[in-house]
Amino acid sequence: MADHDVDLFVIGAGSGGVRAARIASSYGARVMVAEEFRVGGTCVIRGCVPKKLLVYASRFSHEFEDAAGFGWTIPTAPTFSWHTLIANKDREIDRLEAAYVSTLERYKVNLVRSRAVIEDAHTVRLSSGVKVRAETILIATGGWPHMGPKIPGVEHAISSNEAFHLTELPKRIVIQGGGYIAVEFACIFAGLGSKVTLVYRGENILRGFDDDIRAHLRHEMETRGITVTCGHTVDAIEKSGDAFVTLLSNGEKVVADKVMFAIGRRPNVMGLGCEGLNIKCHEHGGIEVDEYSRTSVPNVYAVGDVTNRVNLTPVAIREGHAFADNMYGGKDIKVDHINVPTAVFSEPELGVIGLTEAQARETLAVLDVYKTSFRPMKATLSGRNTRVFMKLLVDGTTDRVVGCHIAGPDAGEMIQLVGISVRMGATKADFDATMAVHPTMAEELVTMREKAMSYGRKAAE
Ligand code: FAD
Ligand code: NDP
Repeated sequence: MADHDVDLFVIGAGSGGVRAARIASSYGARVMVAEEFRVGGTCVIRGCVPKKLLVYASRFSHEFEDAAGFGWTIPTAPTFSWHTLIANKDREIDRLEAAYVSTLERYKVNLVRSRAVIEDAHTVRLSSGVKVRAETILIATGGWPHMGPKIPGVEHAISSNEAFHLTELPKRIVIQGGGYIAVEFACIFAGLGSKVTLVYRGENILRGFDDDIRAHLRHEMETRGITVTCGHTVDAIEKSGDAFVTLLSNGEKVVADKVMFAIGRRPNVMGLGCEGLNIKCHEHGGIEVDEYSRTSVPNVYAVGDVTNRVNLTPVAIREGHAFADNMYGGKDIKVDHINVPTAVFSEPELGVIGLTEAQARETLAVLDVYKTSFRPMKATLSGRNTRVFMKLLVDGTTDRVVGCHIAGPDAGEMIQLVGISVRMGATKADFDATMAVHPTMAEELVTMREKAMSYGRKAAE
């Protein structure tokens, strides 16, 4: 190893890279990590964390309104300062970034603030021109917002990166996309008082999620005043004074102060040196890896969004951790990408694990569907027009719960715990045998007795 400067060179100090670097170092490896922007990566700097802070902010508007039904009088109408929110959010992100840096220091990881490019299978070049020889290279460069085809005026559109740093809260915003980011930001801006138009090309938002959940969320978003336009795209954006005129594919024009595109992200592989080294990539540029995160080049590995497997922070962290455990800790860990619980921080929130009803119908011989929709207790006195929706999908042959879909307050918190039981193979009988916690919303998960639907049962009998 004498001819190597380091044992491991990690490119990218985001969720996956930081975890891999510090675990590898804890096993005694000499580790260097390069970061071209800010330590913490997408999640900490311009993803999950600042997004969740904005989500919290956006939910206060309802809390103020709902308080009246519980006897509260707010003397004057509450006012909101976008500048205060953004300044406080930025301060918290600075604090977190510093905490990440000090963790790396504590673990004796050598952090270099530079872009890194792969020269050959054992050499990484920094922006300064310095070349570092590494026994192993880990690519953890994440992803970047994709802005779609070059439609006229696309340069006026912002992505989620800029949405975190707007100088003013837009009074009117058009958001294109129907995935996680579009839906979450539509709800954030609507909660803060913006007039939101969501433009999605498909039939309904959140393709890939359970159809009942998609329909429920769309209805709830519309009830909250968001205009959801499906089956269309933004075809052009024209600047008109301080505003923008957005031309939709149905000929409609929507005037807005900001236009945001949230139409997916692409793995960060451009100019990284993958082509020269013959590191194989998928069609959309994600680096191809095996179950141990090995690329097609023996000593080069990749974890996180750059591999385009399941693009979530906990997955990137788990992949980075497993890589370091396997490489330097003598372990044999394959990350399981099945049954990953996930939440959409929309209003109402979604929490999901396992199969959708459509997937379950395709794969199971017998499927039992349990559903409930109810008015949450808090809405009785507040008078808010909202419902909670829950759905359990049960394999009728084994009685195992194979899918759980929740739309309602704290659905993300609920699905984290349901996730444990689903992963453990809990049956519907286990759910039924669990005592309810009363009065909660989650108690409905263990008290659903009536099947809403059964597929394949007759044929199986
Ligand atoms: P990243 O965290 O993106 O880190 C990659 C790092 O590499 C970056 O810091 C980048 O600057 C650096 N880099 C890139 N190229 C180079 C180079 N050549 N040299 C040096 N440095 C380089 N996930 C959730 O689980 N929950 C959420 O609520 C959630 N919300 C999100 C909200 C938004 C708006 C976005 C955009 C994403 C969200 N995600 C969420 C997804 C999550 O942020 C990512 O899955 C996660 O950050 C991926 O981690 P990573 O380590 O693969 O990459
Ligand atoms: P998604 O892949 O979730 O959604 C992209 C959306 O854009 C889809 O609705 C897609 O439509 C649409 N789209 C794609 N291309 C075009 C186009 N050319 N024109 C018009 N519409 C288009 O990506 P996001 O950007 O929302 O988020 C990226 C990823 O980040 C997520 O998939 C998720 O993994 C992660 N994330 C996780 C969060 C969480 O855990 N809460 C929050 C935010 C992000 P179609 O469905 O028809 O393909």
